[in-house]
Amino acid sequence: MKEYYGGIEAGGTKFVCVIANNPEDILEESRFSTTNPQETIEKTILFFEQAIQKHKIKLNALGIGCFGPIDLNTNSPTYGYITTTPKPGWRDINLLQPIKSALNIPIAFDTDVNAAAIGEGKWGAAQNLDDFLYFTIGTGIGGGAIINNKPLHGLIHPEMGHIRLNQDISKDAYTGKCPFHHNCFEGLASGPAIKGRWGSSAENLDDHHPAWILEADYIAQAMSTYICSFSPKKIILGGGVMQKKQLFPMIHKQTQQYLNGYVQSEMIFARMDEYIVPPGLGNQSGMLGAIALAQSI
Ligand SMILES: [Zn+2]
Repeated sequence: MKEYYGGIEAGGTKFVCVIANNPEDILEESRFSTTNPQETIEKTILFFEQAIQKHKIKLNALGIGCFGPIDLNTNSPTYGYITTTPKPGWRDINLLQPIKSALNIPIAFDTDVNAAAIGEGKWGAAQNLDDFLYFTIGTGIGGGAIINNKPLHGLIHPEMGHIRLNQDISKDAYTGKCPFHHNCFEGLASGPAIKGRWGSSAENLDDHHPAWILEADYIAQAMSTYICSFSPKKIILGGGVMQKKQLFPMIHKQTQQYLNGYVQSEMIFARMDEYIVPPGLGNQSGMLGAIALAQSI
C-alpha cells in the first residue's frame, strides 16, 4: 500500500484539498467554494475518504493551513478553532476535531500563510533559508514568519496584515476595508480595498493605472516595517494582487527609499530583486505548504 500525505488549504473563499508527497507527486486534488462550515467540512472529509478508497492508499498525516484568526495553542480548549473571523458563520468554529475524528490520523494545524511559508522553504523560493517571511496579498492580507527554521506562533500567531499604515488623506481618502481597523495593511491594500477605492477589481485595472503607485507604496511601508522587525533573509509575496508583476520593481524601489540606507545589507542596497520575490511554487504554495506541514509532524 503506497503512503501519501494529505493537505488542506482552508481559505475564506475556497478550500483546496490535496493528496501528495511532493510537487512532482500529486495524486488527487479538489477545490470548492467555502460555503457554510458544516457543508464545507463534510465535503473535505468526503474528498479524503473517497480518494483513500479509490487509490487504495494510506495517509500518514494531514496538514491544515487555515485562514484566521485561529487557535494554535495545543493546551487550549479551543485548539483547532477558527476564532474572531469577520467571515459570516465561521466565528468560533471547530475545524480540526471533525476532520480528526473522521480520518483518525495525525494532523498538523497552522495558519494558511505559515503553511505556505513552510512549502516555500521546502520546495520553493526560500529553500535553505532559516529566517524568511511569506505574504499573501489578495482577498485578505496575511503573513507567515519562519524564524530559526520554525513557524512563528508567539502569543496567538502574527497578524502581519493588520499593522497600521501611514495614509496620506490628500492622496487617498479611502476609508479602508478592514472592519476592525479601517486603515491597516489589509484595509488599504487587499484586493477588496483596491476594488472599493477604484470601483474595479485589481485584475481589471491596467498596468499603468495610478492604483499601482499607491499599492506599491502601502506594500513598501509594510515591508520596511517587517525588515526592521524580523530581519528576514527573504520576503515572498504571493496572492492574487501580486499577479501584477509590475508591482515588484516598484515595491523594491519604494522599500529602499523608506529604509533610507539604514539597514546595512547588500541584499537591500543591490539585490532587491532577489530579496522581495514571487513564490517559487506559484499559486500552489498554499496546498503544497499543507503537505509540507503534514510532513513536519
Ligand atoms: Zn485590520
